[in-house]
Amino acid sequence: MSNTILSIDQGTTSSRAFLIDHDLNVKGQGQHEFRQIYPKSGWVEHDPEEIWMSTLAAIRDCLAKAKTDPKNIVGIGITNQRETTVLWDKKTGKPIYNAIVWQDRRTTERCEQLKKDGLEKEIRKKTGLVLDPYFSATKIGWLLEHHKGDLAFGTVDSFLLWRLTGGVVHATDATNASRTLLMDLQKCEWDDELCDLFHIPKNILPKICSCSEIYGTTKNVAGLPDGIPIAGMAGDQQAALIGQACFEEGEAKCTYGTGSFILMHIGEAPQLSKHGLITTLAYKIGNQIAYAFEGSAFIAGAAVQWLRDGLKIIKQASDVEALASQVPDSGGVVFVPALTGLGAPHWNPNARGTITGITRGTTAAHIARAALEGIAFSQYDILEAMIHDVGKSLTVLKVDGGACKNNLLMQFQSDILQVPISRPRMVETTVLGAAFLAGLATGVWKDLNDIKKSWREEKHFTPRMKNEEVKVRVEKWEKILGRSF
Ligand code: ADP
Repeated sequence: MSNTILSIDQGTTSSRAFLIDHDLNVKGQGQHEFRQIYPKSGWVEHDPEEIWMSTLAAIRDCLAKAKTDPKNIVGIGITNQRETTVLWDKKTGKPIYNAIVWQDRRTTERCEQLKKDGLEKEIRKKTGLVLDPYFSATKIGWLLEHHKGDLAFGTVDSFLLWRLTGGVVHATDATNASRTLLMDLQKCEWDDELCDLFHIPKNILPKICSCSEIYGTTKNVAGLPDGIPIAGMAGDQQAALIGQACFEEGEAKCTYGTGSFILMHIGEAPQLSKHGLITTLAYKIGNQIAYAFEGSAFIAGAAVQWLRDGLKIIKQASDVEALASQVPDSGGVVFVPALTGLGAPHWNPNARGTITGITRGTTAAHIARAALEGIAFSQYDILEAMIHDVGKSLTVLKVDGGACKNNLLMQFQSDILQVPISRPRMVETTVLGAAFLAGLATGVWKDLNDIKKSWREEKHFTPRMKNEEVKVRVEKWEKILGRSF
């Protein structure tokens, strides 16, 4: 029997498709970019038809490369850019406006007003989120002010599911629903009061399903036979957590991309953070519900881009490791990479980067090393906040994203956290998470244990720095971080 899953990763700048089997062999992949639309300052849109067409093109390329008969696909998984909001006409299936992207800030005033009305605390308690234009509810509100009709709302997972099933299924998964400000995090159901508060009629909302079940089957999709089950869905960061097989409380993953995203599994209760983190659904699989703390830094790998493009001390990002390795330490230089303000847990948009401790002996190598250390300290701050909230230490940090290839950075991260770090062989963890979810519902993987066995480590980093030194380094970082505000 075939055990091939088609995993679709619908991201912010491109749509990708992968064919993956039980042993995590990637048999084919395809990728297509689409337009970013900026109608006004602070507004970011995508054309949902382009999202759809680029997804189909990615699937077509993936199948062509794999030379696989699509009849061998046993299930389809979807992971997606989260919060991005699409409204379409239920009868024609046509979007009524562009998708409003997660980065879009057009509803800032609406959020400010709701805050002034004193509603933030209650909203936070129910949803685990903060009142911010980032999340979907005020985006839906904006669209409804401008358009009437028999409408359906969906985040991108939901829109793709609708299209893949030929307009038969209108559903989403609980992780995506947990990013709308409309879902009661405890019950995993749409909340009547929240819907009223944001003026959203409940009949436009998709059904909230688990992350792993057969939602429907393909119908009239170009390039795919009818009848393939769509069987797994999760937002991109949750998919990465699943793709990293973080199924136990206290496990966490950090994605080192342009910015960073950390999710920590916090168990079966949706605890609220006292340290500037949001609470989100990690996954719902069968009757099993798990929650996570989420924190992100605006700058991670982007600090290395700045060394390349701003300072021009390296030619390509991967050169940073060799440069930083020329010196045994940063020679007292501290680099706070707050280049575009500070995200979690500090939340200070006005903070700016600082480089301190420069002497006549400072070289490009010291600056490069301090930049890598600054990236690691930023993750340390987020993880420390999480650890304080849960009152337990971290067992392991699993890593992915472009900058996780950097061994020096990973070793320093392990040192400063005093926690082991584990880097997987398959670093496309979002894609893998969606594949696991779809494979779980279609019998490719038996259960979460079976998934854990498929997940393979490529490299393990154990802390080497002495406790006293960690203490000194952290104190210094905190002192200098305070000067960035
Ligand atoms: P995104 O998905 O946000 O585009 P990626 O996961 O593709 O990001 O990672 C790209 C980022 O990783 C870039 O910011 C780049 O500077 C950084 N990067 C890539 N390779 C390395 C490396 N070897 N060491 C440190 N940073 C790196």
